[in-house]
Amino acid sequence: MPERPTDEALWFAFQGDRLLVLEGDEPRVPRASTVAEIGVEALFRQPVGSLNGSPCWAAEVPEWVGVPPGAAFVDLRAIFAAVDEEFFAVAGRAKQVVNWHATHRFCGKCGGVTEPASGELAMRCTRCGMMHYPRVSPAVIVRVRREDEILLARSPGFPKGMRSVLAGFVEPGESIEETIHREVREEVGIEVENLGYFGSQPWPFPNSLMIGFTADYAGGEIRPEPGEIEDAGWYRADDLPQLPPKVSIARRMIDAFTAEARMRRPR
Ligand SMILES: [Zn+2]
Repeated sequence: MPERPTDEALWFAFQGDRLLVLEGDEPRVPRASTVAEIGVEALFRQPVGSLNGSPCWAAEVPEWVGVPPGAAFVDLRAIFAAVDEEFFAVAGRAKQVVNWHATHRFCGKCGGVTEPASGELAMRCTRCGMMHYPRVSPAVIVRVRREDEILLARSPGFPKGMRSVLAGFVEPGESIEETIHREVREEVGIEVENLGYFGSQPWPFPNSLMIGFTADYAGGEIRPEPGEIEDAGWYRADDLPQLPPKVSIARRMIDAFTAEARMRRPR
């Protein structure tokens, strides 16, 4: 396990999926030299980069630890509309590292107890020596355009009224391009072409990497996949429904579509 931080660090302490934040108007995490100073104990801690020049640490807080005074454990999803992209990135990295540690106490091959490996982010089996690395699950997110309209859809788990671009996990043996064509076909029954890379974003629910692409409509009628898509439709930039929070790549992709639409049709 790494040494304790030498300077005061920002602590991203997770109890399960919930982050320890200080009470106040906007979400902040405690600053201290040790995890004990913030009033909790930790099963695991790990440096996870820096934020505005301050070193940041992830800590795994066991379930039996109570909430320190003036603080609360909150679901990261509940605050992500209120935090900026840099904070979300560090909190997401910390959440993924803690979640990985919490789910790899035992070796998946032989059932032996694992321990943190020295020199890299891995858990090593004390019985068979197998190394267990944090898992990252690639997923594609694709923005489909048909002339001056964008395809937006609603999944059953979305907040009320919200619609977004399509997304789905890459399956074993599949290229990202194949995933895009398969997901769009499965979820809404249409074909796309002219794939273009947009950007990517780690998405810590629980360990995705969202890989963003743009695409053009190439044919077919929208047929929402039962159980997966509640409804899907074409939207103009001046008539959009409720959208995902600013911090998400989905929203950045939709905002870019809106900006492009304005450039095409000056008002
Ligand atoms: Zn083992």
